Amino acid sequence: PHVLVTGGSGFIASHILDSLLARQYYVTATVRSEEKGLQIRSAYPEDARGRLSFVIVEDIMKDRAFDDAVRAQPFKYVIHTASPYHFNITDPVNDFINPAVRGTTGILTSVREFAPLVERVVLLSSSATIFNPFNHAKVYDETVYGVTTWEEAMNPRLAYRASKIYAEKAAFEFMSASPPPNFDLVAINPPLVFGPASRHLTTLDSLNTSNQRIRDMALGKYRDELPPTGPVYLFCDVRDVAEVHARVLEVPEAAGQRFFAVGGYFSNKRMADKIRESHPELADKLPKESALDDFPDEIYGWDNSKTREMLGLEFRDLKTCVDGAVDSVLAISKMG
Ligand code: NDP
Repeated sequence: PHVLVTGGSGFIASHILDSLLARQYYVTATVRSEEKGLQIRSAYPEDARGRLSFVIVEDIMKDRAFDDAVRAQPFKYVIHTASPYHFNITDPVNDFINPAVRGTTGILTSVREFAPLVERVVLLSSSATIFNPFNHAKVYDETVYGVTTWEEAMNPRLAYRASKIYAEKAAFEFMSASPPPNFDLVAINPPLVFGPASRHLTTLDSLNTSNQRIRDMALGKYRDELPPTGPVYLFCDVRDVAEVHARVLEVPEAAGQRFFAVGGYFSNKRMADKIRESHPELADKLPKESALDDFPDEIYGWDNSKTREMLGLEFRDLKTCVDGAVDSVLAISKMG
């Protein structure tokens, strides 16, 4: 079967490509330039490369941006990951909210109009659509919905979160307003995602946002002081986030569901301790063992038993996840 993955140059998307190609799918990814497509393709061995193609979508925010992409192959599945994730915000609406929401409704519209063979669209959402950081739930699971206000959305520090809430909401509203005859929708909701960098990355300058704290830790930036961990104290290994995307494609009961992809709790101090365990040679770059751990004394609970049971998946622990990230950071820093 053919799968379309939007935002193929992204960190999580790169692992989704790995998982799909390992399962022998034919994969088409959208990228913003031919150069990026070629760079990603060249990172794969020949067999996988032969099943990976690209379509250029320069800006997901543009009207009808995906019309050509969804017609490129007879797709059975579509995975939408393209969405801005960084903290260099100048304009919350144009930098975050519009691309997140228009990208999501745009792909759904194009699939409905031009891709009659598609059976499922998977949306890479976020735990941002589950958490309520100003009024925590006792236990977070797939039944909890994060809420936001337009005023919060206009705050640069909260605009990303709002963009994910509005995008997921718009997607489910699209589906219920006039249910498409051929496809259903699944949302994947990970908290902070860490792990091995994208396989096509050759420089640490373009490392994805969430892995940057591990890079900075391993390179000595936080030797004297760790930045605060919060507001999110849950993580998921990127390889598991990718695996969830691949598994939901073939689980019929996943239709219309959200999946909470969580590995466990973490704090920056706990990550530093894991790095010290596996990489004693980095000890003088890391914050001291006695550094303060800001993990709260009392914290919300989380429960992703539905995700684990429905998909038959056990999630990697913090050490495995941090090791994966550090090993790749060290390997890339040696390339330069
Ligand atoms: P990346 O920044 O690595 O990937 C983002 C992708 O979206 C890139 O492919 C980027 O293209 C593309 N993109 C962004 N804006 C546009 C646009 N206007 N037009 C076309 N393409 C665009 O981030 P991640 O892989 O970390 O995140 C991917 C998704 O996962 C996002 O939806 C994010 O919200 C979600 N997520 C991430 C978490 C994390 O901790 N990493 C946690 C929870 C959810 P280009 O490379 O060309 O810029």
